[in-house]
Amino acid sequence: MTSQKFDIVIVGAGLIGSSIAYHLTQKKSKKNIKIALLDLDFEGTYSASELNAGGARMEWCHDINIELSKSTIEFLASNPSLFGFRQKGYLWLYDKKGWQTYQSHVVDFKCQHLEIEELSPKEVSRRFPFIDRTEDIEGATFSPKDGIFNPNLLKQFFRSQAKEAGVVFIDRAFVKEIMKKGDHSLEIVYDQVTKEDVFHILSGKEMPTDYPKIKISTQLLVNAAGSWAVKLAKLYGHALDCKPIRRQISIFDCHELNLSSYGMIVDTSGVYFHAEADHILAGYATPHESSGYNFKYDGDLFFETEIWPRLAHRMSKAQALKHRTGWAGLYSVTPDLSGIMGCVDKTYSIYEAHSFTGRGAMQSYGVGLSMAELILDGHYQTINATSLHPNRFQDKEKFLYEGLHI
Ligand SMILES: Cc1cc2nc3c(=O)[nH]c(=O)nc-3n(C[C@H](O)[C@H](O)[C@H](O)COP(=O)(O)OP(=O)(O)OC[C@H]3O[C@@H](n4cnc5c(N)ncnc54)[C@H](O)[C@@H]3O)c2cc1C
Repeated sequence: MTSQKFDIVIVGAGLIGSSIAYHLTQKKSKKNIKIALLDLDFEGTYSASELNAGGARMEWCHDINIELSKSTIEFLASNPSLFGFRQKGYLWLYDKKGWQTYQSHVVDFKCQHLEIEELSPKEVSRRFPFIDRTEDIEGATFSPKDGIFNPNLLKQFFRSQAKEAGVVFIDRAFVKEIMKKGDHSLEIVYDQVTKEDVFHILSGKEMPTDYPKIKISTQLLVNAAGSWAVKLAKLYGHALDCKPIRRQISIFDCHELNLSSYGMIVDTSGVYFHAEADHILAGYATPHESSGYNFKYDGDLFFETEIWPRLAHRMSKAQALKHRTGWAGLYSVTPDLSGIMGCVDKTYSIYEAHSFTGRGAMQSYGVGLSMAELILDGHYQTINATSLHPNRFQDKEKFLYEGLHI
């Protein structure tokens, strides 16, 4: 075993880990800290950062979810072409029950100065003429500053800036052991795995044990391991109630429907869709999906039973859709559907930032910024994310149940 020493080790190089690495290097006075970013697969083939829908919106129930998204969207809007940001808005269609949920949060949206237009079903059809079946729509909202972006471009931006500023990238590193030392440092042991084994490891299958083992030590650890954060947390003795849940996305064609001048649309049924290159992308959260590290896309069956009927119900032009492909990725779901961030062990300086369910891409800039402040300054400065600390799960009153989760 070889041994290297770092001041900060971040495990997980998805959007969240990469953003934290970037923001740590942005805090100028602390530039000489030695940071390592570890992942068993920098390509991120099975990471949520690679498999998401690219939606970005500010419309959330809780202030902290609004603020983290808002800061990321403002950053995307500062250079839209760099991040493939199409700021064409978010149209959200509500049935009776959904409209009540929305109405109960209108005051919060106003307090946060969100630009949200309320539309009647008639206005929906006037502004979005392809939505011609509106009988079961009670109301709708349109937020013009939201939209779709390319999460991969954002991740590459974070990574390239972090690397240039001296962050050490360690690929094919699967962290298996974390030891707490007498001097309050941490010893981390990782297996140097092969590309071929990544799928098996991330699917939770039994793996050979004869990989080369590498030891590194650090003064501070950040767990940014997404849906696997719960497993990593176990290695330092922190039990988390987060579940990996499969989410599927279909890609299809519809010659009669050109959505290229629109942003994201969320139907009353929960299906969300938008133009994706020359195709259409749609996702849907199958109710009662069991938890597990399941990456299987159900193909035609998923498209024909979950996506097509809901779109055909909403738009007469969606009668003839041609299914092309699709994929499945994982949400890491917490008991209240809000993410987790904060310091979980002050003695050993262990921090966590993960489980942002369906909003980790659109919150990644804000999360990275806040985590860098917490780590380097000892407290949040720009956005107070204290409410996302996992100790909230000890008291139901502190849960941040996020009703606008899809
Ligand atoms: C189908 C789908 C659609 C989505 N749509 C949207 C959307 O429209 N908008 C939005 O904002 N969000 C969306 N999301 C959510 C968003 O993609 C995630 O919240 C975000 O990407 C999480 O980033 P992350 O860095 O926390 O985790 P990940 O990107 O999953 O990265 C975690 C990394 O940790 C590594 N890792 C795990 N364990 C170890 C270990 N022991 N050692 C070393 N490395 C390890 C993994 O290899 C992985 O690369 C969607 C997600 C899915 C699945």
